[in-house]
This record gives sequence, structure tokens and C-alpha cells, in this order.
Amino acid sequence: MKTRGVAILGSTGSIGTTALQVLERQQARFHVAALTAFTNASLLAEQVARYAPSFVGCVRAPGDAPQDWRTGERCLVDAATRDDVDIVINAVVGSAGLDATLAALEHGKRVALANKESLVMGGALVSAAATRGGGTLVPVDSEHSAILQCIGSRPIAEVRRLVLTASGGPFREWSRDQIDGASLADALRHPTWRMGRKITVDSATLVNKALEVIEAHFLFGIPYECIDVVVHPQSVVHSFVEFVDGSVLAQLGAPSMELPILYALTHPDRVSDTGVLPFDAVALSPLSFEAVRHDDFPALGLGLQAGRRGGAAPAVFNAANEQAVAIFLEGAIRFGDIAHAIQSALSRFGDAPSGTRDAILAADAQARRHVQELLSC
Ligand code: NAD
Ligand code: MG
Repeated sequence: MKTRGVAILGSTGSIGTTALQVLERQQARFHVAALTAFTNASLLAEQVARYAPSFVGCVRAPGDAPQDWRTGERCLVDAATRDDVDIVINAVVGSAGLDATLAALEHGKRVALANKESLVMGGALVSAAATRGGGTLVPVDSEHSAILQCIGSRPIAEVRRLVLTASGGPFREWSRDQIDGASLADALRHPTWRMGRKITVDSATLVNKALEVIEAHFLFGIPYECIDVVVHPQSVVHSFVEFVDGSVLAQLGAPSMELPILYALTHPDRVSDTGVLPFDAVALSPLSFEAVRHDDFPALGLGLQAGRRGGAAPAVFNAANEQAVAIFLEGAIRFGDIAHAIQSALSRFGDAPSGTRDAILAADAQARRHVQELLSC
């Protein structure tokens, strides 16, 4: 049987390395056709030696990198649009993933999307690219994978409400004052998931959940007023779908990204040889749920407002957050400054033009500059 070619953009990251583990067990179905990374050339070289892709890209490759590696930002799009690539796992972090998502969809590829930022920035553009090119978008995010599985083949008109679960992050039980002054080490101590640094901080501010609500809106075409968030500290219920008759379906599993990554490759099919441990309800008990403390996690509300406002607002929300988190990761600002910076950028640029890719990127750049200036004072 011919195996399907997979490109992994961001192969050296948390999702990228997990995706390679998943593919290792699925060699009868898939092969690694292309790998890209940003700077981590030594890990990339190990992956190349092991998986022998036909294309390798390293955005900022060192001078002694192999001659046949592509370099520069364009290598993501080149990897995503190759003839020998059927599926693109976009596991890049941040807005750098946008062009590759658009290009892969324009070229009719299946995009297994971990890079939620590209959908948040350019939801309408991404949908238009898929329609034009015949590509399909399948979520890797565990919440959206759960929703996709629960909806199954039912028409979207039968869905009344989505309820996304959130772990609550490391500050779930902290007071607002404690949260505002939290250290970088505190923010990086996620209770249930091991992930890259940016998404780990986003999970502490609950920005990640705002990005996921916007992602769900565009993926499933559900209005914002029909998408809720509930805190679920154990991260076992990956999300709920409520149907028009009041019936509620959920998808459950131990917190691991292996299954959502694999399902994004095989959807709507299921495969049996996954290595996933049998579900043990007793071992995973008890499961609990809490209301979101919106007053103490203001970034979530800012993101939800940006989603409802539409236009450039989600892109500005995302860019302001990326810039503020980058500065927080350098240890230069307080945790509470992230939400202030997002609010300030949204009030200045939330209504910027947004009809084209260039307009979105211009709004993104304005928001970043604004946050940089605001936080360097
Ligand atoms: P990470 O920081 O561990 O890895 C990011 C990868 O992207 C690395 O391979 C890096 O080399 C590459 N990269 C970084 N900046 C780049 C740039 N400017 N250009 C090209 N490549 C670049 O991040 P992660 O935790 O794997 O997350 C990746 C994406 O998946 C994010 O959008 C995140 O929100 C999403 N996601 C992650 C998880 C998780 O469990 N880690 C779960 C759901 C969704
Ligand atoms: Mg998620």
C-alpha cells in the first residue's frame, strides 16, 4: 500500500517531536516527507538521519548546516506545498505559521493544525484558501479534536453549544494579587500538560482558551454566544458538545497529545495500533468542574471580546499576546502586564483593516510595536 507523505513544520518542538513518535508507529500508513525547524539544527539533524525526509528546512540554519537544507522563512511554505506531501502538520508556534497554513490549503493538502494562531489571525482567509484550493483543516488541539469526534457526521445545525474544558493552569487557586506578581518559573509549571514555553504561559493567563474559542468558531462555524468554557483541572474530559435535544457528548482520555495528533492524520477513520493505554475511569477519578474566574484572568475575556468584534481584533489580540509573552519570557515584566498590554493594543488597533493577508500582517506588526514600546517604558 502507498504510504501518505507527511510534512512536519516545527518538528523540533513539543508537538513536532510527539508527532514523530506517533508516525514511528504508523509506518505502514505514513512516511515523513519533510521536516522544518527554526534554529535547533542539531536536533533537526538527528531527525533527518532517522527519518530521511526528502526536504529539510531550517529558518535560521547555522553556517555549517548541510548544503541541501533550505533556509529562510520561505522554507515552511516550500515544505507545505510539495508534491510528495499529502498532510501538513503545522506545529510551528505563533504567527509564523500563517503563510504555510494558507499555502497548504491552497494546494489542496490536509492541514493537521496545531498552530491555532494562524486560524485566529486569519480565520476568514484560511477558510477562503481551503475553499479555493480544496484543502481541509483538521484540528490537532485536544479540545477541538474532541469536538470533531463528538459531532461526528451530524449536521452542525443539530449542535446547540460547545463547552471547551480548561485545566485552569498553575494559578487556578491563586488570588488576583498573587497572579499579577507570579514569576516566570511559576507560570511555566503547568499542572497537567508538558508543552512549549509560549503555550504554557498562554495556559497560565487563559489566553490559550480564548485562542481556542476563536479557533472553534472558525473550525466548526459556531457563533461565539454558543461556545462556553469550563474549568476542569484533571484535563481528562477534552470538551463537550451539547445537541439541540439537550443530549451532551464528551470525549475523554488521559492528557496526551498522541491521540489528537494521530486522529488529525486518520480522521474520519480510526486505527487500532496506537499504543494508547486502556482507559481506566477509576484511576482518572475524580473528575471535577468549576466556573472560570473571569475577574482574576482578564485576558480570557479580552480574547472573547476580540473574537466577537471580528475583523483585525483577533489578530491584534494574538500579536499583542505573542509580543508580551516574549518579553515576559525574558523576565522583563510582571505576569499581570501581559493582559494590560493586550487591552492597550486592542483599544488602539482592534478596528484596523483586515480584508487581506497583508492587512492582517500590518495589524499584527502595529500591535507588536505598540506592546514593545508600552512595556519597555
Ligand atoms: P514549541 O515551542 O515546543 O515548538 C515550536 C516549533 O516551531 C519548534 O520546532 C520551533 O523550531 C518552530 N518555530 C518556532 N518559531 C518559528 C518561526 N518563527 N518560524 C518557523 N518555525 C518556528 O511549541 P509547541 O508546544 O510544540 O506548540 C506548537 C503549536 O501547537 C502552538 O501553536 C501551540 O499553541 C499548539 N499546541 C501545542 C500543544 C502542546 O501540547 N504542546 C497542544 C495544543 C496545541
Ligand atoms: Mg488545547
